[in-house]
Amino acid sequence: MKQTSLQIPFQIFKDIHSLDPADAQLLESAKSATRDAYAPYSKFKVGAAIRLLNGHILSGSNQENASFPAGLCAERVALSAASAAFPGIAVTDLALTYVNESGDGNRPISPCGICRQTLAEYEQRFGMPIRLILGAIRGEVFVFNRATDLLPFAFSSWEMTSH
Ligand SMILES: [Zn+2]
Repeated sequence: MKQTSLQIPFQIFKDIHSLDPADAQLLESAKSATRDAYAPYSKFKVGAAIRLLNGHILSGSNQENASFPAGLCAERVALSAASAAFPGIAVTDLALTYVNESGDGNRPISPCGICRQTLAEYEQRFGMPIRLILGAIRGEVFVFNRATDLLPFAFSSWEMTSH
């Protein structure tokens, strides 16, 4: 038996103004996207913005449905928009933020499990890490070097094929 552990490196910034200008711009785009959220049930409006390798920025917001499982998270809306508009172009960064029912939020948001799995597959497809910039309407911002840092031991197609 061998005991081991994992460490997940990430950076904590005091607020959006402490970020690199490019990261702050992406987080601002995510913030703008929260206004397009369709969240009549949760009243929890999430905005995502992604930067592609070609420099384009696309955004997405959560889109809920009366049939709850039919709803989509902001991250996957943005990724799908990118795949439709710029197929085959890698995603390099994703910024995420939210506004809660009170119009506030001071704790960085984190992608749900399904979105982590989706982001992991994008990283695998393009062989490129996706930086995550996780914020809130105010307060600290967390930056991760790659999405898969949030999904250790991810399931992937590797297990489905013989090696
Ligand atoms: Zn999600």
